[in-house]
Amino acid sequence: MDIWGKLKAIFEDAPKEIVFKDEWVAFLNANLPLYGRLPAELQERLHLRIGEFVTTTFFEGCNDLELTDEMILTVAAQACLLVINHEGAPYPQLNTVLLYPTAFTATSESLGPGGTIIKREVKCEGESWDNGTVILAWNSVQQGATNIFDGHNVTFHEFAHQIDSLDGDTDGVPVLHSEAAFQTWAAVLGEHAEKFMDRVRRGRKTILDPYGATNPAEYFAVATETFFEKPKQLKKKQPGLYEELEKFYQLDPASWF
Ligand SMILES: [Zn+2]
Repeated sequence: MDIWGKLKAIFEDAPKEIVFKDEWVAFLNANLPLYGRLPAELQERLHLRIGEFVTTTFFEGCNDLELTDEMILTVAAQACLLVINHEGAPYPQLNTVLLYPTAFTATSESLGPGGTIIKREVKCEGESWDNGTVILAWNSVQQGATNIFDGHNVTFHEFAHQIDSLDGDTDGVPVLHSEAAFQTWAAVLGEHAEKFMDRVRRGRKTILDPYGATNPAEYFAVATETFFEKPKQLKKKQPGLYEELEKFYQLDPASWF
């Protein structure tokens, strides 16, 4: 049985409360400093979510990457932190996580002159597909997890795209549970995104990574990275955006820093 199969079996066979081993806690403490900052009840809840995630998501190592418990748990913990307080399965549409040792080659398509499609090979640290696949480079996952203050976390980024795509469109608007929530989201994020894109165009400094100016989906993914890694700055400088993300994720990361 491969390493994912073994881990899955452990989570399936044992009562969830006792299954989370000390060595797994040690992996999370070592790889994900954010984990150590979580209140105890969130850590407990995260363990349960990780169990649900690992039993429903197939992990595969690519380009000869030999998967380990540590890799699977480090990815799962970060993915699950985003949806720790959401109802239902962590990622109902997700089937597979493919892990590469380092940045992998992907084909990007863009529209050229006269509507022609230009294909080019690009190096990627992560990708999220609407068919329920997330692809990640392990060294980038590690870097993103270890540095919790730089606002860059490829795992948060790609799983934010998965959350965004739950309603069928990866468009920067995730599933919101009322018309009023949608109206507020559209107004607040629309206004912040517009100001942000203007600053990026003028070459001004921004809290969010300028990559978020690519389109609304990237804006949401980058805002998510910032929300979890620079929460205090975001709350201070853009309280409206912080509050929307706080309501959506049902988390207050600023209180962990
Ligand atoms: Zn993206």
